[in-house]
Amino acid sequence: MDERFNPFAIAQQQLDRVAEKLGLDPALHELLRWPMQEIQVTLPVRMDNGSTQIFHAFRVQYNTARGPAKGGIRWHPQETIDTVRALAAWMTWKTAVVDIPLGGGKGGIVCNPKELSESEKERLARAYIRALARSLGVTKDIPAPDVYTTPQIMAWMMDEYEKIMGESHPGVITGKPIALGGSQGRGDATARGAVYVAREAAAAYGMELKGQSMAVMGFGNVGKFAALLGEEILGLKLVAASDSRGGVYNPGGIDARALADYKLRNGVLKGFPGAETLTNQELLELEVTILFPAALENVIVKENAPRLRCKICCELANGPTTPEADAILNDRGILVIPDFLANAGGVTVSYFEQVQNACNLYWELQEVQWRLDKKMTSAFQSVLTMSRDHKVSLREAAYLVAVARVAEACRLRGWV
Ligand code: NAD
Repeated sequence: MDERFNPFAIAQQQLDRVAEKLGLDPALHELLRWPMQEIQVTLPVRMDNGSTQIFHAFRVQYNTARGPAKGGIRWHPQETIDTVRALAAWMTWKTAVVDIPLGGGKGGIVCNPKELSESEKERLARAYIRALARSLGVTKDIPAPDVYTTPQIMAWMMDEYEKIMGESHPGVITGKPIALGGSQGRGDATARGAVYVAREAAAAYGMELKGQSMAVMGFGNVGKFAALLGEEILGLKLVAASDSRGGVYNPGGIDARALADYKLRNGVLKGFPGAETLTNQELLELEVTILFPAALENVIVKENAPRLRCKICCELANGPTTPEADAILNDRGILVIPDFLANAGGVTVSYFEQVQNACNLYWELQEVQWRLDKKMTSAFQSVLTMSRDHKVSLREAAYLVAVARVAEACRLRGWV
């Protein structure tokens, strides 16, 4: 992999910059540059046609100073250990920036879920848990969904874990269906958290959002809700959205609900009535008030950063902007709300899910949303204050807040 696009090299570079600013001592800096534990497993899975396919899979427990590791499991054909390491590092900073008592972890299986039947997915999910069960648990590491994993996959995983342990452990995994101990409000939590943060950012920088435009790259779990809640809470107008097969555009506005229904019925966005088609590249370069990159890493790079025309780039995906591109956006006055702050709503409600599972007492939707708003608003305000006090970007400020918290926990434990 080209090191410029290696997400883990990027995560390390981002840390290196703040380590210097925070004056971290060299041992602590080195500790935070690497996962504390990583596990690689090889999974034989029986396919529907009777053959056996071998899948490679990972779990990285990056840092557990502030609590058990926490992070999603991604199923993707291009998954690599370095992607999982980077995502686990970002989870560490994410749980710290929203100040929840968890560390950072991440998992991945190299596979193409689009080519797997439901029963093959179930066998793969169960195989992953059988291989990793001893390293997982509410006091060790709590997985959740990520790209191409769903509440149903979480349900199979929880069931397999409980079978192995011989007792009930709903809190071992979050993002479960509500009928199995999932939390109200988890479905749209990532996007909702981002919308709350965008609301705070617009107020802080004196920007009007009502009636203004938004574009969403990656109309999946997170992107779809960003469009719906951007409309509902911020009064934004959706003008473009895309998925892996391309996008649709209508400067006059696209009804986000109708687009979501169309995607559900047809599996793609292309062909949505009343909209032109456009490529993912074209979408990124549209003149809009808010751009929500909500697909994968490294889509905003030094080549296209000079052409972006959004006012706010609210990073829902993890790692959508390379460091070179980030510097260009900063110089051009585009307000970037960094990924691990913008998309922390998902892990925050996952944490609420775990708390409810532990108490065996469940909250109303309004309570979940109220608590989420409080957490996200407070996280944004800490980052904003840091950014103003130190005259740095929101990304650097978010790193300063988060890394200082993790570093303090490592010191208090006497690790360094
Ligand atoms: P998802 O699988 O539901 O959706 C991903 C979407 O991106 C799909 O519509 C897919 O078609 C599209 N896509 C894939 N490749 C693309 C490409 N090259 N160009 C344009 N679109 C492409 O996944 P998700 O859960 O919505 O996750 C999206 C991003 O948000 C990921 O970076 C993930 O790590 C991050 N994230 C997710 C959560 C969560 O709660 N699900 C939380 C925090 C961060």
